[in-house]
Order: sequence, then structure tokens, then C-alpha cells
Amino acid sequence: MLQKVLIANRGEIAVRIVRACHDLGIQCVVAFSEADRNSLAVRLADEAVCIGPATPGRSYLHPPALISAALITGCDSVHPGYGFLSENPYFAEACAECNLIFIGPSPESMRLMGDKAIGRQTMSAAGVPIIPGSEGELSSLDEAVEVARSIGYPVLLKPSGGGGGRGMRVAQDESELQRAFPTARAEAEGAFGRGDLILERYLPHVRHVEIQVLADSHGHSIHLGERDCSAQRRHQKIVEEAPSPVVDEALRARMGESALRGVQAINYVNAGTLEFLMDPDGHFYFIEMNTRIQVEHPVTESVTGLDLVKWQLRIASGERLTLEQKDVRIRGHAIECRINAEDPERDFLPATGEVEVYLPPGGPGVRVDSHLYSGYMPPGSYDSLIAKIITWGDTRDEALDRMRRALTECVITGKIKTTIPFQLAMIDDPAFRSGNISIHYVADFLREWKEREATVSIA
Ligand code: ADP
Repeated sequence: MLQKVLIANRGEIAVRIVRACHDLGIQCVVAFSEADRNSLAVRLADEAVCIGPATPGRSYLHPPALISAALITGCDSVHPGYGFLSENPYFAEACAECNLIFIGPSPESMRLMGDKAIGRQTMSAAGVPIIPGSEGELSSLDEAVEVARSIGYPVLLKPSGGGGGRGMRVAQDESELQRAFPTARAEAEGAFGRGDLILERYLPHVRHVEIQVLADSHGHSIHLGERDCSAQRRHQKIVEEAPSPVVDEALRARMGESALRGVQAINYVNAGTLEFLMDPDGHFYFIEMNTRIQVEHPVTESVTGLDLVKWQLRIASGERLTLEQKDVRIRGHAIECRINAEDPERDFLPATGEVEVYLPPGGPGVRVDSHLYSGYMPPGSYDSLIAKIITWGDTRDEALDRMRRALTECVITGKIKTTIPFQLAMIDDPAFRSGNISIHYVADFLREWKEREATVSIA
């Protein structure tokens, strides 16, 4: 088993990793930036090392600082969390060169899946269904036009090296594609340092359904069912659930088998997620693989009873997965609300500030993953996620009712604003309750909600 882990991350995921280490009796060291000196992870970890200033490029995104922190504190491994360097193959390689175990897949798997063009080709070759589109990266606008003609409009241009839902552009026809292509290329170049684009058929009424996998270093892999992340704002997930309201056992088995074919094709090791879009007829198409733990992993933990972060640590230690596919049971229903320090009434503008009182919800079926405490000042330099509230119930309705209770109970006072009022309204919206939504649902509901809020404030 690993002896001592460096946590190369911050916020709630750093706290989550500290907890998994302590549950397994492993020591952990948190690497923190100057802005995170007072963070909860620093308080809870066994040791903490300052790795540089607030600017991520000089701390959480700076491999030499992280690796030095691991070596001087005698760590044998590094957990990258999500975001930052978690999907960076060079960082994984640098860790290996310094005899540090990178808690994640091999750099080769990360390279294959870090590039959407190569990812599509690899998965298609493994028999995983993909969305009709370009073979690889587009070499020119002419090629884009040619591919679009053969697959039909509307089409979507995507940065091949992109992430976080950024830089995608829809084109309804050829003239829009001609206009969108140079802009998309420049945007991708600016955001990701490379302008490569792929083109896919734009699927109109789809859901986002993803499969969680676990694979050990002895060639054994299993899937843990799906998460439905159709509730997205600007391609960013805000509410996730497991199981999906539209996936039955037979479809789950088919998606799981597909995902495992992909896993085996790239000799994947550790926890990972294959993301799919699903049309109203239940056809599913691979969009990308995340080679790390995901923000929404707790909903899978809640319905399977498995601790994914503990499994990440055990797999990285070389342990065998002791579970067979038949041992994985999905029990009840779980929902997660991502609570962000944003003002939903002002177009979700970041709205951080000192937290005067923090009183998390509790009671049956409620879990909170957060790095907040009363008196804490979340730094403005990082992403705005401040808490994840996860509720479980025997049925979807029970999980949603518990979510209403939990969101209502949750106290976060001070200058900080949160997305709770919006999420409270959303979980009681009849369309969301019915489960019959697509990736466009949040945009539609948001419009309605804003009108309603405006009416209330005039009254
Ligand atoms: P990123 O890596 O930037 O997150 P993804 O490929 O994972 O990009 O897509 C993010 C989201 O964008 C999806 O969850 C979905 O809502 C939307 N999306 C992606 N591809 C398509 C497509 N071909 N048609 C319709 N929507 C899409």
C-alpha cells in the first residue's frame, strides 16, 4: 500500500482525498498556494507545503514545485485530483521519473484520450459508437465543408485539445461554417495553445450520460453504471444524478460493455469516465474520456456503496480489484447539486466573499463535500465550486425531496452569493421532476426562472 501521498490540488477535492487517505491509514501532504494557506485541506492533512503564489501557473500548474514538495516530504505518490495537472501526461511522466507513483492512468492512455481527434479514432476502432464527423483533425476549411456536406447540418466545431465545454461552435449551414471556422480556430489557439479542430454532427435533443469505470493494473476492469449530467449551463454540469432516469438495465449493460471495450483498447488503469451523448431512441455516442476522478463521482458512490477515491489509491498501490461486474449493484437514486459561489440573479457572475456562518445540511440520505467553514474567505483566483450536496433516496423522488430539504437547511451567510436559490427552483420544476430533459433544459428553465424572479421583485 502507498505510504504517503502528495495532494496536488485544492478545494473540496483536496479534502476528499485527505479523507480517503485517512480511511486507509495513509499519510498525506497537501500542496497549497499562498492563497490557500487557510484552507480546510491544509488543516486536515498530516502535513502541508506551500508551493508558490496564487497564480496557478506558478503553483498548482507548476510541476517542479509539486514534485519538489513530494520529494522533500518523503511522499511515494501524487494524487492530482481533477482539473489542474490531472490530465497532463508530461506531469505523470515527470512523477514517474522521480519515482513517484502518479495516482491515475499511464501517460500513454492520457495522451490518447487527451486529444479528441485521436480519442474518436481510438474508440471507433475499438467498436465504441462515435458521432458522425471528421476522421481526425481538420486540415482546412475546405475539409470541414466537405465533411459537413457528407454528414449533414447542423454541425459542431470542437477544439481537439479542449475541455470544460469551451470553444465549441455550432453551424447551421455552410455559410455559418465558413464564418465559424477561423473564429473557432483562433479561440482554440487562445484557450488551449493549439488551434486544431474536429467536426461532429450537432445532435439536437440529446442527454449527457457517462459511464464510470475502474480498472486495475492486472487487466481487470468493471463499470459502475451511469451518471446523467444533462443539466448543464453553457456545457458545464450543474446537477448530476445516478442512475439516469432514461437508462434501464439492458441499456446500462450495453453502455457498460462499450465503455469496457474502450478501456481495454487503451490498457486503461485506475478510475475513468467515458462520456456519451444519448438520443431520445437510446442510441449513444462516445464524446470523450476523462482520465481522472470527476467532480460528480459521489453520486456513483452513493448508489454503489463503493469509495472511488479509496479504489484509486488501492489500484495505484498495485492491488487487484476484488469486485466482479456481477458484484456491482445499483441501489436507489442519488442526486448532486454543485454549489458555486456565483450570483444566479446576475448571470452567474462569480460572487465570492467571506463566509460568516456555514452550517451544512445533514440527516438521512445527505452528504456534503465541501471545504467551507465559518469565517473562511474562498480565494477569488480559482473555480467557484464551494460545496457539493449529494442526496440519496430509495427512489428519484425521495432523493429530490431530500435535496429540497438539504438546500433549504444549508446556511452560507456573508458577502458570498451561491447558486442554491436557482437549484432549489430547478429541482421542483415539473420538467426536471419528470426526468424528461435534454442538455438544453437548463437554458430554457433559466429564462423562465429569471422572468419569474423579475416579476417577484417588481411585485
Ligand atoms: P469538453 O471536453 O469541452 O467538455 P465535450 O465533448 O465533453 O467537451 O462536450 C461537452 C458538452 O457539449 C456535452 O456534454 C454536450 O452538452 C455538448 N456537446 C458536445 N458534443 C456535442 C454534439 N456533437 N452535439 C450536441 N451537443 C454536444
